[in-house]
Amino acid sequence: MGYYITEECINCGACAVECPTNAIFEPGKKYKIEEKIYDAVSSVHFYIASFICDECKNINEPKCVAVCPMNSIERS
Ligand code: SF4
Ligand code: SF4
Repeated sequence: MGYYITEECINCGACAVECPTNAIFEPGKKYKIEEKIYDAVSSVHFYIASFICDECKNINEPKCVAVCPMNSIERS
């Protein structure tokens, strides 16, 4: 379960700017949770770290989905 970014992504970065939990990262960029470093989920396009994303639980439409020009963010 959770949101993920598909191959349609054009790497505009708009979703990362809007994400309230800072769960979206640049392609190839490692991310950190409580001092532990994790490998990038994708080296090709922006990606969502599922352990950080709270699915915008207090917002009607997830911020990342609302802003994406390519409709390239889906829910599994
Ligand atoms: S659903 Fe919300 S918290 Fe999760 S990645 Fe998108 S904007 Fe961030
Ligand atoms: S807003 Fe959409 S196209 Fe832009 S980086 Fe995010 S997923 Fe990719």
